Amino acid sequence: MKILVINCGSSSLKYQLFDMETENVIAKGIVERIGIEGSMLVQKVEGKDKFILNKPMENHKIAISFVLDTLIDKENGVIKSMDEIAAVGHRVVHGGEKYSESILIDKKVKDSINECSKIAPLHNPPNIVGIEACEELMPSTPMVAVFDTAFHQTMKKDVFLYALPYELYEKHGIRKYGFHGTSHKYVSEEAAKYMGRNISDLRIITCHLGNGASLCAIKNGESIDTTMGFTPLEGVVMGTRSGSIDPAIPLYLMSELKLTIDEVGNILNKKSGVLGISQISSDFRDIETAYKNGDERAILAFNIYHNSIKKQIGAFIAELGGVDAIVFTAGVGENGPITRELILKDLEFFGIKIDKKKNEVRGEFKEISTDDSNVKVFVIPTNEELVIARDTLDLVKNK
Ligand code: AMP
Repeated sequence: MKILVINCGSSSLKYQLFDMETENVIAKGIVERIGIEGSMLVQKVEGKDKFILNKPMENHKIAISFVLDTLIDKENGVIKSMDEIAAVGHRVVHGGEKYSESILIDKKVKDSINECSKIAPLHNPPNIVGIEACEELMPSTPMVAVFDTAFHQTMKKDVFLYALPYELYEKHGIRKYGFHGTSHKYVSEEAAKYMGRNISDLRIITCHLGNGASLCAIKNGESIDTTMGFTPLEGVVMGTRSGSIDPAIPLYLMSELKLTIDEVGNILNKKSGVLGISQISSDFRDIETAYKNGDERAILAFNIYHNSIKKQIGAFIAELGGVDAIVFTAGVGENGPITRELILKDLEFFGIKIDKKKNEVRGEFKEISTDDSNVKVFVIPTNEELVIARDTLDLVKNK
């Protein structure tokens, strides 16, 4: 059975076609600059040259039709017809409180995703556009929604509620939701598998450190707390996002600097984080280079970034009552030995020790703790697409 996984952003979309007998990726690709001049589709198939298609793609429906055409193309394609695609799994960022699991998409589900657009205005609208484009192009193929928030629905009320007037939760759904759930779930399960332990006996802290970053405290295989909140802006310092700050700062910016809501949102989401402090880049490779060259601002940005994550690990150890494993994943977590070292520095007190040599790894599964470390530390490449494909298969298999 073949499953297509789609991850739709506002002007781009990523896709992977899986053969679920083997869980191998048959083809994967990205379409960039949808609706902007210079639209481009790039598809990679193992053992073949990269296929690049430069064509105007005014909207997501056109982009997806090019994806499907490319997949079935006689020369560059990998399947004979669209009928070979048994189902499509869509990454959906916000599922609100309704969805603690993936679900087959129908009108009601789409209404709920639309409803959540209020609290995820940057993410849910393009997700819906992707779903509807696929529905139009593949009307008889089942569609599944896999939510970034679903894994965190196990958080208890005393963790997910903010100390705000209770009616803001009841009437407006203002609470912590958490994101990157698919990734936290996947890497924690992989860690337990590698340790040969049942995940229900483990306390794991997963650090998803990419452009966006969040940590998750996982007990008995369930998310008990996470750093992102009502939106993906809360929590640790990120590439361009501030993470948690004094909530009075936006009020001050509006009252004293007379900034508009959009301007404040732009500062907090796009101009802050390591970019804001360093004024160099949001790309951690650039920061790493400047840090090594002794650039003062890069050092400051790195110190603030690492400290915000270190503090959170300490907090989660307290919440979990200890920790058995710490996992690093996503762009920076998988590829940043300095980041991992600086985050875990001074945590030996908790029995966390990493081996500098083993930590020299980039982008592959590796245990990086010393043999006498009480806590196992791993680098585990995340694979959100595979989780989406597995969930999609489960739902259509049982249909
Ligand atoms: P993601 O959001 O998971 O795609 O991660 C993107 C981030 O990972 C970017 O800021 C990249 O700079 C960072 N990244 C990718 N490769 C490396 C690398 N080799 N070393 C350090 N950071 C990296």
